[in-house]
Amino acid sequence: RDIVSRRLAGINPSETVAAAARMSAMKAAGRDVIALTSGSPDFDTPEHVRQAATLAIERGETRYTDVKGTAELRRAIAAKFERDSGIRYELDEIMASTGAKQVIYNAMLATINPGDEAIIPAPCWVSYPDIVGLAEGKPVIVPCKAESGFKLQAAQLEVAITPKTRWLILNNPCNPTGAVYTKSDLRPLCDVLLRHPDILILCDDIYEKIVYGTAKPATIVEVEPKLKDRTVTVNGCSKAYAMTGWRLGFCGAPRELITEMTKLQGQSTSPASSIGQAAALAALTGPQDVVTMMAQSYKERRDLALDILRNAPGLDCRVPDGAFYLFPSVRACFGRTSGKGRQIEDDIGLAAALAEEEGVGVVCGTAFLSPGHVRMSYVIDRESLQEACRRMVRFFERMT
Ligand code: PLP
Repeated sequence: RDIVSRRLAGINPSETVAAAARMSAMKAAGRDVIALTSGSPDFDTPEHVRQAATLAIERGETRYTDVKGTAELRRAIAAKFERDSGIRYELDEIMASTGAKQVIYNAMLATINPGDEAIIPAPCWVSYPDIVGLAEGKPVIVPCKAESGFKLQAAQLEVAITPKTRWLILNNPCNPTGAVYTKSDLRPLCDVLLRHPDILILCDDIYEKIVYGTAKPATIVEVEPKLKDRTVTVNGCSKAYAMTGWRLGFCGAPRELITEMTKLQGQSTSPASSIGQAAALAALTGPQDVVTMMAQSYKERRDLALDILRNAPGLDCRVPDGAFYLFPSVRACFGRTSGKGRQIEDDIGLAAALAEEEGVGVVCGTAFLSPGHVRMSYVIDRESLQEACRRMVRFFERMT
């Protein structure tokens, strides 16, 4: 008898995790590898945040908190939403969870009935379709073109909506493309959503603070307050404050939904770690210049990588406005042969050949529902990044 449930059978392991594991295995086997697969800032968590966590331990803040998070943290989250986006949430419209991932999981599991559809613009973060699948929903993938900056267009949204549509999942800035939706990008999408009152909206703004140009990422409720009663505004500490290991995400959402998500969380993980909550409180209420400093460093590394990769024949890379990934098209290489004789037919084969021949780890675009591309993370030290990009140029130059 198969031990795996039907629910889990169609679910894929996270390809970003798998790609990183393959690179680690190669390294352990003595290979000279550089992994551009990380989704985790390479900075240490800021010192004042670490100190706040240590103090919390010493003060004995080591017990279960309110399932939604401490009132103090929820006040800080409410202040963050008001400060950054002008959105006012009451304390019972806010909850903290074990990472933004759990917020998203809570939201989907609390609302999706079997067969309900969730519209997901692609390229998209690897986990959305699988989280929808775990909730027994149906991901409806809408491919977005590089020419439109990899951003969902209102007409595409309109066409994708059916009577079964339950969710639209937006990610801004986007992992993997770095696309940033500004207020004017979101306005036409809001107009479509206003005409479809049964659709819930999840706006995953986890990379909000990692932006480089003048384009400011907006969030749905900020652009259209009338959508507040059916939008979950997701954010967290992982990316902005280099806190991926602390596991602290949060959201603002309609009260009824928060109640249901709290019920679910109370029956699964219970509250987020009390120490993580104390750390998040310090992150949200403390100095914010650390965030800008880290974003500046990512920008310099983005430019460093782009500068070298410009010389890679067959690699076509847009300049991303946010997040910390490049998402070049590698289609021009398909049908060609690598320096060591591998026939390259798709992005999966290309990522494998690159790992084998040059020891450079990237994640195939297929994992992001966008074949024909690869994702390269530039949160790695400058020397390794430079070396990885030079190896990539060599790999592409040697193709015939
Ligand atoms: N949303 C997106 C788009 C992400 O890329 C990630 C992490 O990679 C998450 C959510 C999860 O964040 P957290 O660490 O808060 O669970």
